[in-house]
Amino acid sequence: MPMRRLCLVLGDQLDASAALFDDFDPNQDAVWMAEVENEVEHVPCHKLRIAFFFSAMRHFRDEQREAGREVHYHEIEQERGRTFAEVLAKDLKELQPEELAVTEPGDWRVREELRQTAERAGVPLTIVPDRHFYCSVEDFREWASGRRSLVLETFYRWLRGREGVMLDERGEPAGGQWNFDEDNRESFGKDGPGKLPPSPRQEPDAVTQEVLEMVEKRFSSHPGRLEHFDLPVSRAGAKRWLADFIEHRLPSFGRFQDAMWQEEPLLYHSRLSPLLNVKLLSPRECVEAAVEAWRAGRSPINSVEGFVRQILGWREFVRGIYWTFMPEYIERNALECEDVDVPQSYWDGETEMECVRRAMRNVLDNAYAHHIQRLMVLGLYAQLLGVHPRKFHDWHMAMYADAIDWVSLPNTLGMSQYGDGGVVGTKPYCASGAYISRMSDACKSCRFDPKDATGDRACPITTLYWDFLDRHRERFVHNRRMGFQIKNLERKKAADMRAIRERAAKLKAEPV
Ligand code: FAD
Repeated sequence: MPMRRLCLVLGDQLDASAALFDDFDPNQDAVWMAEVENEVEHVPCHKLRIAFFFSAMRHFRDEQREAGREVHYHEIEQERGRTFAEVLAKDLKELQPEELAVTEPGDWRVREELRQTAERAGVPLTIVPDRHFYCSVEDFREWASGRRSLVLETFYRWLRGREGVMLDERGEPAGGQWNFDEDNRESFGKDGPGKLPPSPRQEPDAVTQEVLEMVEKRFSSHPGRLEHFDLPVSRAGAKRWLADFIEHRLPSFGRFQDAMWQEEPLLYHSRLSPLLNVKLLSPRECVEAAVEAWRAGRSPINSVEGFVRQILGWREFVRGIYWTFMPEYIERNALECEDVDVPQSYWDGETEMECVRRAMRNVLDNAYAHHIQRLMVLGLYAQLLGVHPRKFHDWHMAMYADAIDWVSLPNTLGMSQYGDGGVVGTKPYCASGAYISRMSDACKSCRFDPKDATGDRACPITTLYWDFLDRHRERFVHNRRMGFQIKNLERKKAADMRAIRERAAKLKAEPV
């Protein structure tokens, strides 16, 4: 019997309940998946990121086969082509399906590549809506249309209201407020976080073990390490991680959301993003589990609301931004950065800056760093150095297990680097070393002093912070949210500013 539909499943679409499978007929339809070189080579990807994707894909393949579906799967060793389009084109020719179907991809470039490949092969392509998200791209665009600026808070309230999440019987937000951010900014103080719940760990099974060995051999020159591989790669494992987070870390998630502590990579964060982004978990089940913990009195409202805001708010918001502003968004460079790349320490972790060294150890060990390390250490330092936002994005895509274009780009180029000129955030996240000193213990063991902007011991972040404000003064002088920072800049003596500029130039030429 001729093949009716070939259902293409990308590495970030491992959702067996996707609309793509609604009327799947095992007698006429088949699943198609491929591991391809180009996706992990165009910027050399972190070994753990590659292993996570390939192992999760192989587990999904096996589950589909167990469910009685035919799966055409190309392991990377099969060398059938370097790019996704090459491998797919060959199969379309051989399999001759009447139709190719795929869930809306999470990457603009991949969607275009698919369209072209299907067109060249003369096979009609159906793009099936992605049910994973709360908010469709169309609904986001409708919400956004006519607004002068797109504000997360407004979007979050609208979507939470529409979805009826944490509302009382009058439709008002539970606890009388939409936002408990004021309660969610604690640092750990000088004694540190104390005893933390143990991080969950998923021991690699035989499939993962095989992938780990292959990655170690084939991608030996790539950045990152595999010894710490502990991520779940199946739906069952992902559900266990969610349950572990809800029980052990959610209760303190809110309070310490913005805190850092050098020796503790996870603190009270969930590390659910890779699992959500490859769709082993749905945002609804994460939100529902958290809300249930609050209703049962097992987690306080500030933690649960904070978590809901991240998933139902930020995650949906950045996706809407991506699909509303692409493809021109990726070209944006609002601060007119030159073609500067991330420093070498972002690949090997070798630096004298303790905050960067620790954050990078986390990235190299786990292909992960929590939000504040990403934003207020690695993102901040890159921004102050004048790294091109696109280069920062490319680096981020290569190094994190949770990086998919739709979520990474608005966070890297937009929120972190202000490359979009104020779409995601109304001001750049720029701060001096004093912020890092206040929110973490990094500066205590660092050879640099966050209070100093000049001299040999001056914290590079502090020097570059003043230099950044100085360089962009004209741009931000009328931004009300930056008034305080610009006023402080204007108080600096001319001689100090000269010394700052001089040291900043050296740091930019040779980052420490
Ligand atoms: P938690 O702190 O436990 O938060 C819970 C969940 O909320 C996360 O798992 C995530 O799904 C969601 N979330 C929180 N903040 C955001 C946000 N700003 N945007 C989207 N979702 C959010 N997140 C990614 O999933 N992929 C990325 O490629 C990515 N790139 C980032 C790059 C930079 C420079 C910055 C500053 C942030 C980036 N984020 C990205 C957002 C956020 O940092 C991560 O989602 C979070 O650190 C993941 O760790 P966690 O699961 O422990 O998060």
